[in-house]
Amino acid sequence: MHKLPIFFVVLHPRIPYGVLTGFKSLLMSGQRTLLNTWGAELYDLWESQTLENVEGIGVTLTKRLNDYFKHTKDSYLIKQVNKIPTPVFTLMQVPGIGSKTAYRLVVEFHLEKSKNILKDIEHIAKNDKIVPLGGFGEKSQAEILTLVKTFQSKQYKTRRMRLDQSYGIFDKVSEYLLLNEKIKILYPVGSLRRFNPTIGDIDIVAVCEESDSENVINYFTKYPQTKIVEGKGERKGAIIISSGVHIQLRTTPLNKLGAMLQYNTGCKEHNIKLREYALKKGFSLSEYGITKVASSKFRVPSETRTINFVSEEKFYNFLGLDYIPPELRQGGGEIEDALRHKTPKLVELADILGDLQIHSNYPLEPSHDAGVDSYDDILSEASERGYKYIAYTDHNPSVSRHSDEQIISLLGKRQQYINKLLYKKSERTKYFISPEVDIKPDGRLAIPAKAMQYVDFILVAIHSLFNQNRADMTKRILNAFSFPKVKIFAHPTTRLIGGRDEIVADWEIIFKEAKKRSIALEINGAPEKLDLPDNLITLAKGIGCKFSLGTDTHELTQLENMRYAVAFARRGGLTKSDIINCKTFKEISKWLVKY
Ligand SMILES: [Zn+2]
Repeated sequence: MHKLPIFFVVLHPRIPYGVLTGFKSLLMSGQRTLLNTWGAELYDLWESQTLENVEGIGVTLTKRLNDYFKHTKDSYLIKQVNKIPTPVFTLMQVPGIGSKTAYRLVVEFHLEKSKNILKDIEHIAKNDKIVPLGGFGEKSQAEILTLVKTFQSKQYKTRRMRLDQSYGIFDKVSEYLLLNEKIKILYPVGSLRRFNPTIGDIDIVAVCEESDSENVINYFTKYPQTKIVEGKGERKGAIIISSGVHIQLRTTPLNKLGAMLQYNTGCKEHNIKLREYALKKGFSLSEYGITKVASSKFRVPSETRTINFVSEEKFYNFLGLDYIPPELRQGGGEIEDALRHKTPKLVELADILGDLQIHSNYPLEPSHDAGVDSYDDILSEASERGYKYIAYTDHNPSVSRHSDEQIISLLGKRQQYINKLLYKKSERTKYFISPEVDIKPDGRLAIPAKAMQYVDFILVAIHSLFNQNRADMTKRILNAFSFPKVKIFAHPTTRLIGGRDEIVADWEIIFKEAKKRSIALEINGAPEKLDLPDNLITLAKGIGCKFSLGTDTHELTQLENMRYAVAFARRGGLTKSDIINCKTFKEISKWLVKY
């Protein structure tokens, strides 16, 4: 029987799962150097002579890493890594096939130079050649075949999910996990917590007693939707569920929660910058806490002890920084801001007093989708949510099917209908009557001037001819802004995530005009839109624009999407005073309608 290289023997049983996968992905990516994010942390520990603080790194590995950091290319570790045939790493990319199995198969079948390692393994398994190998059997052969075939079918290729899909999965897993009494609280981390517009994997942190951790991980891997258990350690588990989504769970005791959340929330660039900043102050960061880097050759135990933090606030404050909310951790200037105590006090969901884009089922004969709910039901639901006001923003009647007179008459009747219906029902929650009006290709609006008397204000939006050139598109939008009662520019870039690209326009000119005319820019919370994108929010805020949050609700459950509109406002660094939905009814009436 072939023996595994010493490299794996040293690494595999001793290093915690998280560190090992870090190493594995490092090797798989073909970078045979340790100095990336994970390696850099290891380097800090090595430099400060606190390597042995990492659980699983004993005397032998410390010696090996010492050698590695001193001699890199000529080091023992790298020599060992170079001895491992490349197909081993290719095979290790298949979820469920570990390093030992991959190595055995490659060496036993002399596949060291195989360019078609997956096809070769499939062929070998189909011809029953794995069964006779020591340590394998019918069952493991069948399993290997399934794993390789599934992987090849690209079922598990990385694909990005929308925010609502990801939170849907997170909510379901959470429901299952929280049935386990050992788990005290759960947090989404990674891009999910930062509200990225698209999400790859779902990452979760669970708080439990250290002694319960292994049980919790075990319980997690038994999630009914689990298709493949990718990995299972004392403090971390990874599964792939039947829809092909990867989910990872890490556990932490409460007293170490701060560092665990901070470390796993990212983004990568933010954490790299924070690490560099901390190092200058003499600290090294890890998912367990903050360690003082020893300044002398002689180790002083009290100085090298890792400091734990129960919360992220305490973690950041310890470093002399304001707390930086996850949405702002983008690797831009947020650390400098936090150092100068300039971190904005971001808007929160509770600050939002109304939803300014909702579509009803009223027969306004529009050319775009109507909603499915009545004005009545929408108002009750908004009331239920504690909103002080809403805007009914049905699309304008279709231009191709109606004359100007018909459009005027339709909008007049609608106003009458709403006022009669809701006259006595709008005590708690007030309403505005406002169609969402198409901006025609030349910038004129899709309702005639005479119809304006029947609306409180209007949202304008582009719903056609998205591919105009920059100059024409910019002119088109500026022209639309010049009409009276235009108060909100809805989903400005018209992007559809995973679908349509943003329109091309001169945003700086457009935002300056919006500011001049007191037109609010919408942050549309529909998960397929999330429009304005956060970089444009930041640009517009710099110019001094105001923003309007809307869910573009066509069905009542979508009112829930306000959380994404708020998240995007936060990613753009907005505070209450930037957002018109934070105004009282009296204030916003004045702003929108100028009573
Ligand atoms: Zn629209």
